[in-house]
Amino acid sequence: MHKDDEHIIDWIIKKTDPKRQMDHFNLKKRARSFERRKIKLDNQIFLCKLCNHTWAKVSKALDSSGWRLYPKPNMPTIGKKRKICPLCNKRSDNE
Ligand SMILES: [Zn+2]
Repeated sequence: MHKDDEHIIDWIIKKTDPKRQMDHFNLKKRARSFERRKIKLDNQIFLCKLCNHTWAKVSKALDSSGWRLYPKPNMPTIGKKRKICPLCNKRSDNE
């Protein structure tokens, strides 16, 4: 066997070592579930492009309407999902 070929095979064996792959997978999985939790929290807050308010879905136990409007300067709007708030939604329905 040529010397260079050996190197390549070594490299492939290292790359495909099941334990290594598992470690890598678990690390990825953990990072992803953490990311998902973060998104879940942050995802509840939306920015309404019509009235520029940030609003959030809340538990109906907290607010009977199921959502809550935040005062304007309270929230950073960068990275917030743009979604028309229920108030503007209702308004545009009436028009
Ligand atoms: Zn709105």
